[in-house]
Amino acid sequence: MEQFDVVFIGAGPAGYVGAIRAAQLGLKTACIDAFTGKDGKQALGGTCLNVGCIPSKALLDSSKQFHDLTHAFADHGIAAKEPTIDVARMIGRKDKIVKQFTSGITQLFKANKVTAFHGFGRLRKDRVVEITAADGAKTEIRGTNVVLATGSKPIELPFAKFDGRHILDNAGALDLAEVPKRLGVIGAGVIGLELGSVWKRLGSEVVILEAMTDFLAAADADIARAALKEFRKQGLDIRLGAKVSKAEVKKGAVHVTYADAKGEETLVFDKLLVAVGRRAASEDCVDPDSGVRLDERGRYVVDDHNWTGVEGVWAVGDCVRGAMLAHKGSEEGVAVAELIAGKAGHVNHDTIPWVIYTEPEIAWVGKTEAEVKAAGIPYRTGSFPFAAIGRAVAMNETAGLVKMIAHAETDRILGVHMVGACVSELIAECVVAMEFHGAAEDLARICHAHPTLSEAVHEAALAVDRRALHKANGPG
Ligand code: NAD
Repeated sequence: MEQFDVVFIGAGPAGYVGAIRAAQLGLKTACIDAFTGKDGKQALGGTCLNVGCIPSKALLDSSKQFHDLTHAFADHGIAAKEPTIDVARMIGRKDKIVKQFTSGITQLFKANKVTAFHGFGRLRKDRVVEITAADGAKTEIRGTNVVLATGSKPIELPFAKFDGRHILDNAGALDLAEVPKRLGVIGAGVIGLELGSVWKRLGSEVVILEAMTDFLAAADADIARAALKEFRKQGLDIRLGAKVSKAEVKKGAVHVTYADAKGEETLVFDKLLVAVGRRAASEDCVDPDSGVRLDERGRYVVDDHNWTGVEGVWAVGDCVRGAMLAHKGSEEGVAVAELIAGKAGHVNHDTIPWVIYTEPEIAWVGKTEAEVKAAGIPYRTGSFPFAAIGRAVAMNETAGLVKMIAHAETDRILGVHMVGACVSELIAECVVAMEFHGAAEDLARICHAHPTLSEAVHEAALAVDRRALHKANGPG
């Protein structure tokens, strides 16, 4: 049985990044993954690269180009005759991007001497890992350390089972052959909003049914409110407090019944995307006698250092507590590799940025105003609209704002929340400031290039102290 210093089970952003870091640190490293790409070969990268972050961003970009051509270019004096969309070509471009990145990981593994195994990994007793290939062939390897990085799966609703044709998960909604005339979405979360936006921009009538009465409950309320207004302006039909009870496929259409404050209604769609959250993909990945424990949500139980409590067994990414975000998983993978190598690996969960890649984008780091208030922390807020930023106006991207929350006495930044163009990039400055325990005054005193969108961050920092330069400074 081949022996490794570290065996990662799962090659998503948590597992493959951790494996590269472990190999960099001189550890003999293996990484196991069962995913097979469209070409029938192993495709490393997990959900993020194959059916998540990267392909969705490719389609978001394609659909934005189409939308701008049909809706925004005229303002610039640019006219095009009858633009068309070739969905097959758009999906082909997306697949090419995915292939580029999954092959890139294969190259990175070779360059770093990480041994990749293609098959389903299962942790047994004493850190033996059994790998079952697609043809059923079994191999066993052993790790001095084993890191479970088995990711997550879409949650299925009992009355709306995924069939890959009419009722789709995120992967299905990334591979449609044509633009559906009517697209239903259950869940106004990250996936529902991103993929709902893609098909809306390409011409679908999109209805999003959300069970909660609050829109984007995890985001700051001011940001969620501004975003909802923009999405509705774009024609996304978002219905809140909608409890779906039935989804039936009849004659090639999906009939969805839901009830909200107005009563019960049945809508008919060509396709239905179910995006009601994800759950840890832990089943069958660990033998009961491996000693690894699962919590009530099927996640591996770990401590603050991602250790499972079993000697040499760790777990990282979507399959453990914390945010289900690729970059959170990668940070944990690196931290565990460093801990195994005797270094001081660490993840600061308080400064993990969130981004939703809609148009406008939504991004935040730290606490929302409601969380700060509930914790009884004295605070001040400062906000600034993109409509007053020269660069934003020149770009025709005036929607949204930046809102900063700082401690009322120490001025330490507690959270920054944004909705607007390119805020996925702007948030990085605030993550750095928070990681260095920065104050709003620190950002207020830093020179920001003019004209840039980053001036909205600068002005929001100034607004905390009621001294924004390009807006009237009100009391709150
Ligand atoms: P989510 O948790 O973001 O949103 C699910 C939504 O569905 C919630 O608003 C919830 O209230 C609603 N819901 C649940 N049950 C429902 C029901 N029966 N009827 C109607 N609404 C219902 O989950 P998601 O959008 O499926 O995404 C899954 C995970 O993937 C998330 O943890 C997310 O963070 C991650 N992800 C992140 C990104 C990103 O960072 N940009 C992109 C995609 C996915």
